[in-house]
Amino acid sequence: MAALSDLAGRVDDVFGRIADAARSAGRDPDELTTIVVTKFHPAQLVRDLHALGIRDVGENRHQEAQAKAAETSDLDGLRWHFVGQLQSKKARQARAYASVVHSLDRASVIDALATDDGTVLDGFVQVNLTDDPGRGGVQADDLEAVAERVLQSPGIVLRGVMAVAPVQGDPRLAFARLRGLSERVRSLSPGADRISAGMSLDFAEAIAEGATHLRIGTAITGNRPDAR
Ligand SMILES: *Cc1c(COP(=O)(O)O)cnc(C)c1O
Repeated sequence: MAALSDLAGRVDDVFGRIADAARSAGRDPDELTTIVVTKFHPAQLVRDLHALGIRDVGENRHQEAQAKAAETSDLDGLRWHFVGQLQSKKARQARAYASVVHSLDRASVIDALATDDGTVLDGFVQVNLTDDPGRGGVQADDLEAVAERVLQSPGIVLRGVMAVAPVQGDPRLAFARLRGLSERVRSLSPGADRISAGMSLDFAEAIAEGATHLRIGTAITGNRPDAR
């Protein structure tokens, strides 16, 4: 059980640091949702996290997410967050297990996720904060058009914006920019006020700039077994 108690220690440590960062920013830690990103780890890690009280887990590749969700379908109250690039031909399948998709950035994916079958998917529009068009996310200029597309799509509720801070530069500045972009989305849809930002190394800066959804991998899971 050594591994489980190490995991429990990291969960406690990170949640403690999140609460500290929230209080330093004058915010209530209870308004934050922490998603533990379990990519490359086996389904057993998801079971261990669930036993420790974690209910929000994230994946960035469809096939891996689909398999893990199936292996853990007996766990009560688990919510899967899809945070990676999604192919539109896989969107229907992703909808079957995901409660939230953080990476909406193209009309084709949004249209493929839309449905009038009465189910609801929470969606975030991902913004590319880098100059590299190969990265996921919309360019800031296209933000309103993509957000409108989500707002017009049955079965998807627009919750807000998501971004990954660029590798180079001050993450606080990147997240300040994201906060401004969030305000633009909020002026289209006042309820779309959530911000998905902050990872293992920059969650404090994200919290300081208004993040509501943190996506934390290695700080909780330990090193990824098969990282690439
Ligand atoms: C892997 C991943 C994370 C978590 O990254 P860590 O640095 O391990 O915390 C967050 N967001 C996305 C989109 C990811 O792919």
